[in-house]
Amino acid sequence: MSFSRRDALHILVSGAVSTAVFTFFKVSGAKAVPRPPGALIEAEFLKYCTRCYQCIDVCPTNALVPAGITDGIPNFGTPVLDWKKCIFCMECIRTCPTGAIKKISRDDIKIGNAVINRTTCLTWSGQSKCDICYDACRYDAITLENEIYPVVLDDLCTGCNVCERRCPTDPKSIVVNYEKVKRFLPPDKRVAMRLEDQTGKRHGEEDFKSWFVERIKKLGRSYGVMKEEEEEE
Ligand code: SF4
Ligand code: SF4
Ligand code: SF4
Repeated sequence: MSFSRRDALHILVSGAVSTAVFTFFKVSGAKAVPRPPGALIEAEFLKYCTRCYQCIDVCPTNALVPAGITDGIPNFGTPVLDWKKCIFCMECIRTCPTGAIKKISRDDIKIGNAVINRTTCLTWSGQSKCDICYDACRYDAITLENEIYPVVLDDLCTGCNVCERRCPTDPKSIVVNYEKVKRFLPPDKRVAMRLEDQTGKRHGEEDFKSWFVERIKKLGRSYGVMKEEEEEE
């Protein structure tokens, strides 16, 4: 059996294209993106999430946006969290119809840990007596050492970011570090889905076309290619 130069070229080009495609999928599958509070461990999250966009639609602060193609094929269309915008309102947790976001309580959320910079903190640096972060924390995750100096209790801190938002210094003297994220195991039984949950279509919406148009507008706004006023037209 002999190869012509044309056959050899064909094999070479096919090999190069296959390698490029394989590498692309492998790399694209490896990208880790931040998930909503309550999200299952990543491999399970990707299995359970149907890209219905209901969590994205319900989020009041636009903390969730759909992953784009540059986030990798497996992630495409799944919700990506902007940590700083999340207010722990629980709406995405309540809304997710598939169990990809687990029905946990607010106290079970953990997306990070607050860290105090003692050099700039008003109290620690001796500039003035401040306990704003202590008062702001609803999880009792800040204690006052010697009844004066704020200290974060890592086990109780959820990463809710309220202390950071309230801290009066610029730059902030208490900042949430988003490395210790708690993820969850899937439920024992998979949730049976209704058709409207699979498509993201809600009760009361007239037809698939209007749902789809709304979806495109939302995507356009998320990625900055459509302005609010264009959306209203
Ligand atoms: S908890 Fe609320 S603010 Fe945070 S991602 Fe979910 S819907 Fe958005
Ligand atoms: S991030 Fe939230 S839970 Fe953690 S210390 Fe700050 S206010 Fe408390
Ligand atoms: S709010 Fe900021 S300045 Fe005030 S005690 Fe907390 S970390 Fe220090």
